[in-house]
Amino acid sequence: DNPSYKWRRVLLKVSGEALAGDHTQNIDPKVAIVVGGGNIFRGSSWAGCSGLDRSSADYIGMLATVMNAMFLQATMESIGIPTRVQTAFRMSEVAEPYIRRRAVRHLEKGRVVIFAAGTGNPFFTTDTAAALRCAEINAEVVLKATNVDGVYDDDPRRNPNARLHDTLTYHEVTSKDLSVMDMTAITLCQENNIPVVVFNLTKAGNIAKAIKGESVGTLIGG
Ligand code: UDP
Repeated sequence: DNPSYKWRRVLLKVSGEALAGDHTQNIDPKVAIVVGGGNIFRGSSWAGCSGLDRSSADYIGMLATVMNAMFLQATMESIGIPTRVQTAFRMSEVAEPYIRRRAVRHLEKGRVVIFAAGTGNPFFTTDTAAALRCAEINAEVVLKATNVDGVYDDDPRRNPNARLHDTLTYHEVTSKDLSVMDMTAITLCQENNIPVVVFNLTKAGNIAKAIKGESVGTLIGG
């Protein structure tokens, strides 16, 4: 382990929309990734359409994350990064089922583990899956990759004077209803003392910075 790196094991959350970002190279800390699926299908937007109930819509959303995971796996392997995909429900012809100890073993062997199908349950999000898997595999931090620089005090696309927060407490995030993650995800992080770094994936070098624990984006903690 490289002593100059702050984290030894990280959980990187990549939303569906952010998947086209730059790739990590020379990864030293152990990295697990939870992928979203919102670029393909978001259950909440489809529920109610043509008689689709929320649970069915959410299962379709979870399948979307599997597509993204397989795409990410192929892309990472094409640049020489060994990966394993684990799904929250069985799709054993295309990926391993989620087995906590096996995931940890892959990380110890230097493979990047990509967690797909969210938590495996409807009514949850892949942000919650990120918090859950982070706690389960004893990762030290959730790195939430987005396409903005971090958490602002106002919408930076509408208000040019919006200020970026360097740090926030969990309480500030929940009480001010800052749209960082859904409540389930952020409270799960809070209950397990998991810091969350929200950073911009679309800027070159940011993933490496976040993984090494260098200052980037907004740090949410105690
Ligand atoms: N989803 C779910 N349970 C989970 C994770 C995801 O039902 O544990 C479904 C839900 O419909 C969600 C979709 O999968 O809208 C895609 O995930 P998400 O919206 O979290 O993706 P992201 O916003 O990160 O791209």
